[in-house]
Amino acid sequence: MTALLEVEDLTVRFYTEEGVVTAVDGLSYRVEAGETFGVVGESGAGKSVAALSLLGLIDDPGRVERGEVRFKGEDLLSIDEFALRSVRGDEIGVVFQDARAALNPVYTVGEQIAETIEHHLGYEPAAAKARAIRLLDRVGIADPEARYAAYPHELSGGMCQRATIAMALSCEPDLIVADEPTTALDVTVEARILELLAELADEFDVAVQLVSHDLGVIAGTCDRAMVMYAGRAVETAPIEELYYDPKHPYTAGLMSAIPRIGDDRDRLETVPGTMPDLIEVPSGCRFHPRCPFAEEACARTDPALVDPETGEAATFDDDRAAACLEYTEGLSGGLDYSVEVDGERGRKRGGPDAEAGRDAGREGDPDA
Ligand code: SF4
Repeated sequence: MTALLEVEDLTVRFYTEEGVVTAVDGLSYRVEAGETFGVVGESGAGKSVAALSLLGLIDDPGRVERGEVRFKGEDLLSIDEFALRSVRGDEIGVVFQDARAALNPVYTVGEQIAETIEHHLGYEPAAAKARAIRLLDRVGIADPEARYAAYPHELSGGMCQRATIAMALSCEPDLIVADEPTTALDVTVEARILELLAELADEFDVAVQLVSHDLGVIAGTCDRAMVMYAGRAVETAPIEELYYDPKHPYTAGLMSAIPRIGDDRDRLETVPGTMPDLIEVPSGCRFHPRCPFAEEACARTDPALVDPETGEAATFDDDRAAACLEYTEGLSGGLDYSVEVDGERGRKRGGPDAEAGRDAGREGDPDA
């Protein structure tokens, strides 16, 4: 069956003075209706570029060179700007990293939400205002009538992010693309915003593509996830499997950065080194200069994304895939790591504390 979003062989390049940067290289994945799909990797992995490509927001010197982005079966890369803008407002909502910058400073937050509703849903101004106020209330902004008339600079970072979530939901989209939505927020506010996003995704039955550099955030929020490295997917899995049984050394390295209660295992420290230069990527496995398990073959052979159980090429519909020579019998030493999870991982949507979270901060600024 066709997934809500199907990205196939997406390739995005930036033509810079230094050279051609292949930021996303042959990326394929799907997002099912109603699911929360995480995309995780360090800065430079290509996850935000991939997200912006879906929305037609790649500017010069960037170019989508190849691939398809099928949303409800229609390739968004082949429709005109006008049609794409309509899909972007009506059916795909966006939550950006810097909420304050995403809001227009010369209009009140309420006016901006109401304007979106008028434009995309054809509401009369009074009805659009009423709907905007209801949404501000629903995203946990106290005294929504008064806050409707507040300018972005009068709200905290957390409140601005709540307002952009309200805006993203305002036209009842089928998909929300959230690009590092909590990076600019402190850790307590981050937890509340993620909880809100997960809760609203359930309530509005909307799929979410959540982009984050933090595997802990992804593990606590998503149903499935894809790990990206140097423009490519290196692992995809349902979140429980990714968290408890990572198949790729890079995923295991990212996991080592998540603090866990009572965790005294002898584990990989953070992933050593940095993301490679995407103008000239390493030969073979792109991760080999940083991989603690790299062998000679790793510098020669580019591992395909395969089913780690069978070693067969992963298909578009496979939930579990990893790109490491280990799964095609290309390693002699094997992958020598184990993952033991003693502490609690982040709460998924609808978890035991969701009710308490719903009531948090109904007075004053919920993110203060
Ligand atoms: S192919 Fe080699 S370098 Fe790449 S992840 Fe596997 S072991 Fe590490």
